[in-house]
Amino acid sequence: MTRIIGLTGGIGSGKSTVSQYLAEMGATIIDADKVGHEALTRSDIKQEIVAAFGHEVLGPDGEIDRKKLGPIVFGNPEALAKLNHIMHRRMRKMMEDKLAEYRKQGVPVVVMEAAVLLETDADWDKLVDEIWVTVSPEGVVVKRMKEQRGMTEEQTKARIRAQMSNEEKIKRAHVVISNDGSLDEMKRGVKKAWEKLVDKSAK
Ligand code: ATP
Repeated sequence: MTRIIGLTGGIGSGKSTVSQYLAEMGATIIDADKVGHEALTRSDIKQEIVAAFGHEVLGPDGEIDRKKLGPIVFGNPEALAKLNHIMHRRMRKMMEDKLAEYRKQGVPVVVMEAAVLLETDADWDKLVDEIWVTVSPEGVVVKRMKEQRGMTEEQTKARIRAQMSNEEKIKRAHVVISNDGSLDEMKRGVKKAWEKLVDKSAK
């Protein structure tokens, strides 16, 4: 039986780092960001987005240019909700198709990495068997985002405030991955959770 983990967490909390590590240990990853990028290339979705936001979201190649779409929706909750409404249900269907394929192949563990797993109203959380949440303190995230993405403290804090709080995510979590120290410490926590999962699946 395929077990499906939903991996979520705030900006810069370590989701991608954790899913990379889980992949090294044998998990198959579905990355919601990649599914989103794939969705934008589909003609039906493209048409709806152009109808909602205008031709200015298209690049010279006639494809949706995420660098043009981004500034329209970030910082504008109404526009973001509109985009999410177009995208999230379709992305769910695409993820369901991928999950069905992995089940058919007998893949033991799939990790679905999605920042908005618990926030979207398209019920992505209903696709997973358990929820893992990465958590890092605000100060650590601010420092990481400054050093690695050149974001200011204000920009990072604004993104954090726009997301569901860690407390709320932790309430829903089966596993909390605390990522407030070194990468090695974080990996030790992930390895423990992984071994427990593999044990459980073997029974
Ligand atoms: P986002 O939602 O913004 O995509 P994320 O939750 O996927 O972020 P990562 O991309 O995994 O987070 O981590 C953010 C940055 O912090 C990365 O550059 C990563 O290498 C670094 N990082 C993550 N955990 C640690 C750690 N424990 N020590 C040092 N650097 C870390």
